Amino acid sequence: MHVRGVDLWPEPLTRDLVEEVHHGRRVRCYGPDRPRTLVEMLERAAARMPEQEAVVDARRRLTWRELHQAARRLAAGLHAKRGVQPGDRVALLVANSAEFCVSVLACATLAAVAVTLNTKLRRAELEYMLGHSGARVLVTDPEWWDEIAPKGAALPCEAVYATRDTPEGTEPLDRLLDCRDAPPAVSPAEDDAAFIMYTSGTTGHPKGAIGTHGGIVNGAMSFARCFGLGPDERTLVAVPLFHVTGLIAQFLTMAYVGGTTVIMRQFNAAGALRLLEAERITYLVGAPTVYIMLMSQPGYRMSAATLRVVGYGGAPMPPDAVRGLREWLPAARLHNVYGMTETCSPTTILPDADAFARVSSAGRPVPTAELRTVDPGTVVECAAGEVGELLVWGPMVVPGYWANPEATTGAMGDGWLRTGDLATIDADGYVTVMDRIKDMINRGGEKVYCVEVEDVLCGHPDVLEAAVVGIPDPVYGEAVKACVVPRAGRTLDPDDVRASVARRLAKFKVPRDVEILPALPRNPSGKVVKRALKN
Ligand code: AMP
Repeated sequence: MHVRGVDLWPEPLTRDLVEEVHHGRRVRCYGPDRPRTLVEMLERAAARMPEQEAVVDARRRLTWRELHQAARRLAAGLHAKRGVQPGDRVALLVANSAEFCVSVLACATLAAVAVTLNTKLRRAELEYMLGHSGARVLVTDPEWWDEIAPKGAALPCEAVYATRDTPEGTEPLDRLLDCRDAPPAVSPAEDDAAFIMYTSGTTGHPKGAIGTHGGIVNGAMSFARCFGLGPDERTLVAVPLFHVTGLIAQFLTMAYVGGTTVIMRQFNAAGALRLLEAERITYLVGAPTVYIMLMSQPGYRMSAATLRVVGYGGAPMPPDAVRGLREWLPAARLHNVYGMTETCSPTTILPDADAFARVSSAGRPVPTAELRTVDPGTVVECAAGEVGELLVWGPMVVPGYWANPEATTGAMGDGWLRTGDLATIDADGYVTVMDRIKDMINRGGEKVYCVEVEDVLCGHPDVLEAAVVGIPDPVYGEAVKACVVPRAGRTLDPDDVRASVARRLAKFKVPRDVEILPALPRNPSGKVVKRALKN
């Protein structure tokens, strides 16, 4: 099955689409007067609504004018003090905060590339990403510094700036923000990289997806159009800004419309409900887990009267949760969204009118996307309604993975992104995600690649072999389960197994359940039968 978003949305949303070539792909883009880069989005917002709040966190409130100025000051400082040039990588190990937003926009102002690191990762994971991306500068919050402060070998970065407190080995970020020079007269091009976001993979090391300015602007415009967002929008970021949902679906979409982003440093349901109310939030996007947690709070129905657009995605949304949202927020529009890091967020969006009629569907391709379902691993197209691997074409697809031509060829070599998801597309163009081909666990929207955990488990001196699977979890959708076989004559303790993973990998990758088995179930060709381990 092969469908095009341009054929499926009402005419006002598709009228201005133009065909252009980007990264060798002929794609449909939003109209010619679109902003081309993050810098243009920022400049337009600062010019159109200078005194409107842009970013609000627990410590400060910045208007679009102030955010624009802060980004330019930091850009000037990075250039003057560190010589950051177009194309250089600047790594951010920064929790949700105004500093994060300023840093991303400062990188864009210099046509440099922000490497947005997951703050939950452990030393080995972060060291790999810093080295592989070749980041010249690292901006970090002091609380993550212990995890990466050099113990022996120096970090690959030339300089480390701390957002506060300045622990030993770092310099204050404020010193860069004090810069009185103007930033250099450079500007990124639409096809230039704006960020690198690492996602783990089914083999080898994590892969750095390269988000371009054009891909990100496309994502922001898809949200603005399909959700009907305007300059009065106020969004609450309850998910990480270092992933595409927080960064593109929320903060940069607000940059496109000139709205306001209210930032929670870390999600907690009670605090989020308070902020929905106090900050008069109109627009929310989050993983199903966020909504499940909000709706498990006592008295949640009393809050959030201003919410009018609610997006959920990143993982399958339970139909009960959709029902719960409708009862809680009868006037709000509800939208399932399917997307990936590799598609700069939105690929399909479910119109509100279908939220119940097609409760399992992730919607139809956004106006600039084309989708196909094929027999996995082939280019043989499936019929309508038949399950196949979902492929994506359009300006949202990243041009590749940083310094990883093999992974780039494997995932998008012919221009079509192979999502690794199994889906159907019906005769009306609606996509339903059925399963995954990739050996991955979706824990509340955070992805855990089984092989990564299995590799660490197999490094345990008493483990002979290990297999990791996802098992159902009422709040997170899935949880990590490890099945381990001890070496002959050795015993294994589940807590010790968990601790050995926690020393090397982020907490969300640590198995919730550990089962000790005498052997792993295998099929006649020797492959582990993971299905048999999922109970
Ligand atoms: P990430 O790159 O972390 O954003 O993860 C992308 C993956 O999340 C996709 O390949 C899907 O497996 C899953 N996903 C994203 N959105 C949805 C959705 N609306 N429904 C079901 N699964 C989803």
